[in-house]
Amino acid sequence: MNNECYLSEVFSAIQGEGPLIGVRQLFIRFSICDLRCTWCDTPDSLTKNESCTIEKESGIREFLEVKNPLSISNLLFYIEPLFKTKHHSISLTGGEPLIHHNFLKELLPILKKDFSIPIYLETGGHRPHELNNIIESLDYISMDFKLPSSANTGILWDRHREFLEVSKKAKNLKGIWVKIVITKQTLGEELTKSINLIKSVFKNHELEVFLQPVTEINNIKPPEELELLNIQKNLLNIYPKIRVVPQTHKLIGQK
Ligand code: SF4
Repeated sequence: MNNECYLSEVFSAIQGEGPLIGVRQLFIRFSICDLRCTWCDTPDSLTKNESCTIEKESGIREFLEVKNPLSISNLLFYIEPLFKTKHHSISLTGGEPLIHHNFLKELLPILKKDFSIPIYLETGGHRPHELNNIIESLDYISMDFKLPSSANTGILWDRHREFLEVSKKAKNLKGIWVKIVITKQTLGEELTKSINLIKSVFKNHELEVFLQPVTEINNIKPPEELELLNIQKNLLNIYPKIRVVPQTHKLIGQK
């Protein structure tokens, strides 16, 4: 089993997206992503890094530089001091954490046993087989839907559908939701298609959808207020759980 992994950074911070906004999390940011979203705000995590940074103590923003790849015992050694602060959960983020599913398969049961803490996965939502490999150790899944008109990630509809189907079968999840980043370029017909796809899998509307107006980056802008109101109105006619929530962590200067 591959028990080493490339990380980008580890730090303690406030979750700024989705239904768990405001909770304190330990973020483990993995290196490597196979997508290249137009609005990506973690370009340093897209490929393997020679080293990663790990916060010395929760919330002090002083970091150790640690050579990659890290073994599980190495990672546990470095994150242990961060748990002097009470955290709601550990966020696996990236990059794309599911690329490291074999590492996670071994790591997650240890984290849950040693720290008694829920595991929260942030993912592009396009790797259903890898999800299936670790889903029994997850508590929350924040899954992205990448729309071709604005994400520039190609066509992922079938992979998103399969990901939803795998998620739906999980018995142990405390929460799963879909996040859709929307920009001025996002096509209404793609939003409608994505909501219909979600509805076809979660027929009882168990899953919430978060429309996230993009935080301006690379001259990519969010829709105007009236557009947003109109988008939500149209989608609510198809599916009852559509919320519009921007990234809040950026408002307090958190990256
Ligand atoms: S999935 Fe996330 S890490 Fe990968 S390119 Fe998109 S925004 Fe960046």
